[in-house]
Amino acid sequence: MPRGIQVNMLISMEWRTQLTAAGDQIEREWLGFARPHPARVLDGLCGFSQAAFVPDIVGQHYCPRCAGSVGAGEFIEGKGCAACRNRRYPWEQIIRLGRHDGDLRQWVHEIKFHAWDAMGIELGRRLGRSLIQVGVRPDAVVPVPASAWRRWRRGIDHSRTIASGVASVLDLPIVRAMKRKSRPPQRAVPPSRRRENVRGAFGVRRLNFLRDASILLVDDVTTTRATLLEACTTLRRQAGVAIITCAVLTVAETVRSQRVIPEGASPDHGG
Ligand SMILES: [Zn+2]
Repeated sequence: MPRGIQVNMLISMEWRTQLTAAGDQIEREWLGFARPHPARVLDGLCGFSQAAFVPDIVGQHYCPRCAGSVGAGEFIEGKGCAACRNRRYPWEQIIRLGRHDGDLRQWVHEIKFHAWDAMGIELGRRLGRSLIQVGVRPDAVVPVPASAWRRWRRGIDHSRTIASGVASVLDLPIVRAMKRKSRPPQRAVPPSRRRENVRGAFGVRRLNFLRDASILLVDDVTTTRATLLEACTTLRRQAGVAIITCAVLTVAETVRSQRVIPEGASPDHGG
């Protein structure tokens, strides 16, 4: 075959490959046949008007004692904010990725109810980076478990998925230390009854494994903190865990969820 034709064929194959790749990308990311890579979504690279996601800053955007949002000067180091100053918690602090609104709210919903595991891992990674910034260095990552029935129905163990992203960034082991009995979902229970709904729901799998350890407890969303309160209390009483940092993607709150939560204010999630 003449050399000129060979070169032309190579160029045409190159073009065809590039056109196919571009077509695939348009099909996947713009026409919605498949979800775009979560890192591109979070960095604002998947739409003309989409902004990059910016995580919350501890003390500036939220209080690390209760994870509630705060305005300028409302959080005081060592004391907390007005909503939590007189409360005692079974955790050392709560680190959150962001407010429960806009894109983050939608992503968290899709992780849990549409099994978007890649987004769960990526948001877990971003949460891990936030934890590094505040200097949290626990011994292990423990996901808040869902019941076996709910994991099966949803097709995803969402907290474990998020925890795997966190653990990869922090280079820590994931320990499935807890199991959970099936109860009505927290989002289906009025906020005033969520503590009761989750009471006694957790058990510890490996009783002595985490004795005196410092752990990171990971969940997707907290609203009333009822699930975190129960999980932390169980880990301290039954497993002898010494230090607990909670890490959540987001905190669903109304005006201030620590004080009053109107019924039905958080239709997507519970806890
Ligand atoms: Zn607070």
